[in-house]
Amino acid sequence: MKKTARITHRFFCTNCGREGLPLARKTGHQHQKGHLKNLYCPWCKAEYNHWECHDDEEVANFKEFYRMDVIHHELSDYVLRRPRQRKVN
Ligand SMILES: [Zn+2]
Repeated sequence: MKKTARITHRFFCTNCGREGLPLARKTGHQHQKGHLKNLYCPWCKAEYNHWECHDDEEVANFKEFYRMDVIHHELSDYVLRRPRQRKVN
């Protein structure tokens, strides 16, 4: 059975590690794993990159990464580097 409805993806703040606001996404449009999105975090009261989770397994992965501080070291690096090198014309 194929779902035609939108599914809700969960987003976790890379700053505080808590769950932020969920977003509805169209099914069939799969993003790559570890997709980051700049969203408003209700806990930090500011915009931070959020880690997109498609299922419970990814949520568990995120929590593990966050606990090990992988998110802060590698992803903030990745996030900070990107806008500098790539100029949007
Ligand atoms: Zn936060």
